Amino acid sequence: MTDTNGIFVTGLRNAHAMENQALSIMKPQVERIENYPEVAQRLAQHIAETEVQIERLEQILEGFGESKSSLKDAALSLSGSMAAITHSMAPDEIVKNSFANYAFEHFEIAAYKSLLALSNQAGNSTATALLRQNLDEELSMAQWLDQNIEPVTLKYAALSESGQTAKK
Ligand code: MG
Ligand code: FE
Repeated sequence: MTDTNGIFVTGLRNAHAMENQALSIMKPQVERIENYPEVAQRLAQHIAETEVQIERLEQILEGFGESKSSLKDAALSLSGSMAAITHSMAPDEIVKNSFANYAFEHFEIAAYKSLLALSNQAGNSTATALLRQNLDEELSMAQWLDQNIEPVTLKYAALSESGQTAKK
């Protein structure tokens, strides 16, 4: 394997771990939400998309002879620096999660742009098509989160003022 191929495969493995991390961030959130059904619905949609994204990454990695069992290790060994994004103790949990999710989607966007640079350069059209689908879903989720910051903040304030459960 050439060096650039090695960089690409390492990037794919990191993206696979990133997507498992995404699931570990979103799944607890969606289970906790009580008063923000629009957020829960969009998170549930993106969880389903993420599961397919993982399959796309595995499909590309299989082309490089990477097995699924070796990928489990990468997911488990990932640094917890960003996985620690959980705000269940905060009174404004839903608002803080909207910031964290916005940041995470942009991390994913950058990761896919980086991988696409390599797949384009290598002329790997199969990988490019699959990575482009993942990127498009991250861009769409990031756009939704961007548009949701204002309404979720105002809803949090309104629920708080009326004495209802506002945090989640
Ligand atoms: Mg993703
Ligand atoms: Fe995402």
